[in-house]
Amino acid sequence: MNAAADAGIDWARVRADFPLLAREVHGKPLVYLDSANTGQKPASVIDAVDDFYRNHNANVSRAVHALGTEATEAYEGARRKLARFLNVRPDELVLCSGTTFALNLVAYSWALPRLQPGDAIVLTRMEHHANIVPWQLVAQRTGATIKVAELTDSGELDVDGLYALLTPDVKLLGLTHVSNVLGTVNPVREICREARRRGIVTVVDGSQAAPHRALDIAALGCDFYAITGHKMCGPTGTGALWARREHLAAMPPFLGGGEMIKEVRFDGTVFNDAPHKFEAGTPNIAGFIGLGAAVDYLSAIGMDHVEAREQALLAHATEALSAVDGVRIFGRAADKAAVISFLVDGAHAHDLATLLDLEGVAIRSGHHCAHPLMQHFGVPATCRASFAFYNTHDEVDAFVAALAKVRRLLA
Ligand code: PMP
Repeated sequence: MNAAADAGIDWARVRADFPLLAREVHGKPLVYLDSANTGQKPASVIDAVDDFYRNHNANVSRAVHALGTEATEAYEGARRKLARFLNVRPDELVLCSGTTFALNLVAYSWALPRLQPGDAIVLTRMEHHANIVPWQLVAQRTGATIKVAELTDSGELDVDGLYALLTPDVKLLGLTHVSNVLGTVNPVREICREARRRGIVTVVDGSQAAPHRALDIAALGCDFYAITGHKMCGPTGTGALWARREHLAAMPPFLGGGEMIKEVRFDGTVFNDAPHKFEAGTPNIAGFIGLGAAVDYLSAIGMDHVEAREQALLAHATEALSAVDGVRIFGRAADKAAVISFLVDGAHAHDLATLLDLEGVAIRSGHHCAHPLMQHFGVPATCRASFAFYNTHDEVDAFVAALAKVRRLLA
């Protein structure tokens, strides 16, 4: 369809790497358009997890026996791979269960001990609940207040409005890199520069960015960056928080237990160095080894190719969907990831998603964990089709044809 997006890559072969995509649903070929919710996994990731349990399973950082050494090397190897993928140092990368954990870690370890009455936190209207509720909990306990940066009609951040909010009382700015509902890509680098000039710490939710474009976190200029593994071809229960070393050094541990200590005495405990200080207990070892395989997989394709392919699918889907009568698309940002939120006149989002499922098309309907954004648009829910590089242009056509059919049924 789009020669530039194909870039010499055999996308049919890439797709064949994902065993689940070959299945049928309700007797129809599966069209999986819910990758913003969770991504599908290539065989190499599934095999890496399987191989760990079959051949290497042992706990990490404890046992001196061969299996213990293999497990530790594989786990730390995954941290190094992920660090390279994100262009950060491995010792600045805290491995955790996902973005939700990562943001809570910042909230409880960085913000809770620092914020006080009179301080303010700035968030944007397009945040996922994972980047709202932890700050509300911290605000309740510290007496800090929350201010909200609003959006333009196209679903982009009102950047000047945001800057106007960055007054001297603001200590922290939390913003998403890419909106999970609108697809809007925020100018994070520029915003972080402005925040930093004002001495404001920035926390970026990168859950929807890491799967879709090449990331250079070191160049973004933020203080904290959170990612989640299951949206980037990795297993569920994996993710990471990147933080500047000086923050990690100054932050107290979030959870206490094994692995995060150097010495424990009843008269006081000496904590391990970062990032281990924040990784209490047995981690999701197999999951991170799978995430390492996912990073290898994405790197082999090349994130620039992933982005170009998804942009071609987005352009195709936006055009085809816009031609269906009664479709209203939410979010028309100039820089947009491959996510389309929409509604069809006279049809409820859940009814549309349920009927599309019967056609084999998996999309998400609901509030997408973004109630304040739904309130902004004055709707309780939207439908959301989200695309990944393993989707095809034929699937885009199948989705839009199914939607037109379903719309007629509901009319
Ligand atoms: N932020 C955004 C923008 C998301 O899309 C998601 C996942 N829907 C999260 C945070 C939470 O990620 P997780 O559930 O993997 O912790």
